[in-house]
Amino acid sequence: MTSDISYKVIVGLEIHVQLCTQTKMFCGCALQFGAQPNSRVCPVCLGMPGVLPVMNKHAYEYSVLVGLALNCKVAGFTKWDRKSYYYPDLPKNYQISQYDLPLSENGFIEIPLESGETKRIRITRAHLEEDAGKNLHTAGNFSQVDLNRTGTPLLEIVTEPDMSSGAEVKALAVELQRMVRYLGVSEADMQKGHMRFEPNINLVITKGGKEHKTAIVEVKNLNSFRALERSVDYEVQRQLDEFIDSGKVMEMGNKSTRGWDDDKQMTVLQRVKEEAHDYRYFPDPDLLPVELDDAWLEQIKSQLCELPIKKQIRYVSEYKLSDYDAGVLTADRSTAEFFEEAVKAGGDPKRVCNLITQVGLKLANEAGCGIAELSLTAENMSELAKMIDDGQVSASAGNTILEQMTKTDKAAQVIAEELNLIQKSDAGELEGIVEKVLAENPKAVEDVKSGGKKSKKAQGFLLGQVIQKTKGQANPKVVSEILSKKLS
Ligand code: ZN
Ligand code: MN
Repeated sequence: MTSDISYKVIVGLEIHVQLCTQTKMFCGCALQFGAQPNSRVCPVCLGMPGVLPVMNKHAYEYSVLVGLALNCKVAGFTKWDRKSYYYPDLPKNYQISQYDLPLSENGFIEIPLESGETKRIRITRAHLEEDAGKNLHTAGNFSQVDLNRTGTPLLEIVTEPDMSSGAEVKALAVELQRMVRYLGVSEADMQKGHMRFEPNINLVITKGGKEHKTAIVEVKNLNSFRALERSVDYEVQRQLDEFIDSGKVMEMGNKSTRGWDDDKQMTVLQRVKEEAHDYRYFPDPDLLPVELDDAWLEQIKSQLCELPIKKQIRYVSEYKLSDYDAGVLTADRSTAEFFEEAVKAGGDPKRVCNLITQVGLKLANEAGCGIAELSLTAENMSELAKMIDDGQVSASAGNTILEQMTKTDKAAQVIAEELNLIQKSDAGELEGIVEKVLAENPKAVEDVKSGGKKSKKAQGFLLGQVIQKTKGQANPKVVSEILSKKLS
């Protein structure tokens, strides 16, 4: 890079989220991933003439819920528009969408940055529309189309160009995934294409005191966080190189779309847009406008929960957890709620957190379920945490007990006794053992008393001897106290 050049990265993002309703947006066909091609279709989603679509109320409520979570202004009145579209995967040749009256607009989302701080990204709008089917080009000399996905409810979310790196764009995508899962409105499974991303990227380059903007590039149809982050970073570098090589800048309407080649890890030019597309939007005469009155809005509002980013921040301030731990616990709602219940039942937050993050999540992962689905109650978890903190069992014995707890219905205390994991903390009993060890090891006792370099090592040795004599069952804290008293 030439030394008199500096630049600013500008990225906005468009996201399509598939909602997890039982049926499609405007007909009663079931939403089912992986079903026999063209087995989940009816005259409405096939676009037969003369049929009438009916709005899926759940899809609308889910969308309003996300709008609220995104701090948007939710519209009291909206309508449906037809967007002209000619492609085999949507046979009626238009997509039902919302054009000038989106169901929500002017919001924001807080995203976590690597520094532990958050950044506010403005949300332009979020509206509801229907998905197209899938064209398949794997059969040989011809293409096939599977219309099972046609008419699936899609929430389109558009951000303002407030992000400035691939990492920030990825952070927003991950946060949005966590949010829609918390709200229970989407499985947000990337492998199944439930979230698709289209970042808009350009640069403002300052050279010799003058500002130049590069042409905006939209990368189409990304369906993994990694591809999203990498394509943005790739575009930043490509646009910078192009400016340095050719001085090429933004002109009227020279926006282009590019695709992401995952094998080559680069973006590839698809087409240059000469001007904005004219989709010939017009209100759909077959669908009624939607009026959201106060009572309905209140009912939807009551389904809001504490959002993951707020939880994460609260865990750091209220429970004094690290941002990393708070992030792990709030990654999904059931883990976070299980954690909070165990803390409410009296478990120390840090101790419960360690049990969950170091053992519980691993066990849940092996069992292929969430931590709340293991045979494990929050009360048992908090009891175990208390046993460790009281010195009844060691932290490593605690991990063993936790593992057993997921296999049986037994309480921590019962398992600890059965497995002989209760630490001896009875000072009287331990004092006898300490005295015996001291008598057997006069050299070490002398080293401790000399207070020299060897003192610490000798004390550790004596502690080890006592623990060994109790077959590992002595509470090291209690033994240490007795040792210090006897040797001082
Ligand atoms: Zn249908
Ligand atoms: Mn769209």
